[in-house]
Amino acid sequence: MSTKPLPKLSKTPTRIGSQALLEKIGLGTPAALALHLPMRYEDETQLWTIAEAMAQSGEGAVQTQGVVIRSQVLYRPRRQLVVTIEDDHSELNLRWLNFYPSQQKQMAVGAHLRVRGEIRDGYLGAEMVHPTVRAVPANAPLPKSLSPVYSVSAGISQAAIRKAVLGALDHPSMQMVLAEILPPSILVSAEKAAMQFSLRDAVMYLHQPPADADTNALMERTHPAWRRVQLEELLAQQISLKQAHEIRKGRASPPSILTDQPARSLSPVKTKSLTHQLHEALPFELTAAQNKVWAQISNDLQASYPMNRLLQGDVGSGKTIVAALASAQMVERSYQVAIMAPTEILAEQHYLKFKEWFEPLGVSVIWLAGGMKAKEKKQAQDLIESGQAQIVVGTHALIQDAVHFAALGLAVIDEQHRFGVRQRLEISQRIGSVTYYCHQLMMSATPIPRTLAMTYYADLDVSVIDELPPGRQPITTKLVKDGRRQEVITGLEQWLQKGLQAYWVCPLIEESEALQLQTAVDSHAELSSVLGNYPVGLIHGRLKAEEKVAIMANFKSGKTKVLVSTTVIEVGVDVPNAALMVIEHAERFGYAQIHQLRGRVGRGSAESTCILMYSEPLSLAAKERLQTLREVSDGFVIAERDLALRGPGELLGAKQSGEAMLRFVDLQRDAWLIKIAQDLADRLLIQHPDLVQAHLGRWVGSRTEFLKA
Ligand code: ADP
Ligand code: MG
Repeated sequence: MSTKPLPKLSKTPTRIGSQALLEKIGLGTPAALALHLPMRYEDETQLWTIAEAMAQSGEGAVQTQGVVIRSQVLYRPRRQLVVTIEDDHSELNLRWLNFYPSQQKQMAVGAHLRVRGEIRDGYLGAEMVHPTVRAVPANAPLPKSLSPVYSVSAGISQAAIRKAVLGALDHPSMQMVLAEILPPSILVSAEKAAMQFSLRDAVMYLHQPPADADTNALMERTHPAWRRVQLEELLAQQISLKQAHEIRKGRASPPSILTDQPARSLSPVKTKSLTHQLHEALPFELTAAQNKVWAQISNDLQASYPMNRLLQGDVGSGKTIVAALASAQMVERSYQVAIMAPTEILAEQHYLKFKEWFEPLGVSVIWLAGGMKAKEKKQAQDLIESGQAQIVVGTHALIQDAVHFAALGLAVIDEQHRFGVRQRLEISQRIGSVTYYCHQLMMSATPIPRTLAMTYYADLDVSVIDELPPGRQPITTKLVKDGRRQEVITGLEQWLQKGLQAYWVCPLIEESEALQLQTAVDSHAELSSVLGNYPVGLIHGRLKAEEKVAIMANFKSGKTKVLVSTTVIEVGVDVPNAALMVIEHAERFGYAQIHQLRGRVGRGSAESTCILMYSEPLSLAAKERLQTLREVSDGFVIAERDLALRGPGELLGAKQSGEAMLRFVDLQRDAWLIKIAQDLADRLLIQHPDLVQAHLGRWVGSRTEFLKA
């Protein structure tokens, strides 16, 4: 949201061109344009002198103007355009990290520019980075009300889309297009706040706010006009969720007896109680929480409609074994199981675990990932197609075109929030079969409150593992200023002398001019030379998948003692002998990231320590975050703090399916509307089923497909 496209200063697309472009992004009709409400507003009603603007440095966007006195392309630290403007008293630098020749031309020396952006103390002193720029004379009139800013795609300028929207609002069909669908009897029950505007008035108001409009309420989307639109949209989302649930209940799950069973005929399961055997072979007892969720899942797997369940549990809570038990139950019934993880490192670990658990029981476990040689891949695909492969572990490659399961009964998707909505949609579309839909189990270590989860995701049941296995060594978390780096390294050496291993986590791999972060490469070189006797590995996102897997294997086997990494080890990695973790520039990480990283230690019998190195000065938020992380180890408590701070959308990392349907609602900010919308949805479905499709068509259109994700 913060990186908006650069303003087009030169060519505005021709009418024909922009109409075609609008059609391409689904805005070809007056109806679509009318509901394409502003993404945000800009306050261009005020103009400040450069000096006044600079006095508001760091306080949000301001508008000022001046004449270009310098325009330079600099090459350090990287190629960038710096344009300096001046008014009667002061100068201001404007900076672009990427730019087009046309922009340079527009902002040539002597041009008069009106610019809008936030002033910050930057690399070159007070400056605006990527401001919005208009080349207009100094006396060009200011708008009287807020200016809407629309989301656009490449090639369409704000000016073009504003014009198109205004044209649509004037269109003779608008009366009809924005006519009320919801009958008054339904509307009266809605909260008054959302009902001060008719739909049509609300839409008009939002596109063209009057001069006296409540600016804050509009910007923050709490204005009654927004409320009206939000309620409509949320209502459509809730109806879709309910419909999706009905549809799932109407679908057939994998039948308990397969009539046409390649899996059984080619690779017979010798015993009926595979699940039981797996249970017995485990070197530990399941926790009460694991038993509870296992019972829920086992129950689902026997239902007549397909399971769609999210298994949440803090890092290290033991989700994998629950997935294994579910797999056993399906293999026992002659079905195949697919286990999918977002990265090869994670998938590989699952593969090793599943092999260890299942091969002694006579179940075949195979590996399939993008990085395999063509021949191996073909072999794996053949085994899957013939049904000989009973459990298949891998990455997204598992659901690619060339993979045809003989009898897939269950798909397990680990760290599912790391797959995008589109990818998950693809997953669920690919795992249905002709005669039945396979069960789906998703797993996530990001605990979010259940009610929120159920509104966020599509039609989904939620299970939670809310306790850790016994005997876990608590992790001691320490905060250390980066000035004490040498002491930390000395401490690390003592740690290694005890035969233990350590992670060393660096935030970025390349120098970032803004943050000046220590690079992983530098840290690796430094640690390698200081810790001469102990091999140090380096892993980061730029490596090929098989390189990463090899590096992880070396660390797991103890060949390397220290693993310097970027955040690629964030999820799932399990090396019990690694009991120390040092995180550099911990102040740059969010709650969830540190919590997940830290979950990599404390997995063995040794007492574990996590050292959060930070550099001063700390912002208040960072200070509070680090202190919380030092004191609190419960992932749910941390998630709650995070939730309060950032809202669930960000917490989940990726847009979730239920949310992807919502354009104007923010489930955190507008949480109070959810209950109202749920009640309205129930009433509309019962009392006015005839209106449901019209309402859905208006608000969600093709976005209902996200519900299947
Ligand atoms: P996560 O939920 O983060 O995916 P894992 O499934 O990787 O956690 O489990 C973390 C570790 O705890 C693994 O080494 C696993 O074998 C172990 N474990 C799981 N359940 C139990 C249990 N009930 N008792 C003891 N150890 C367990
Ligand atoms: Mg896991």
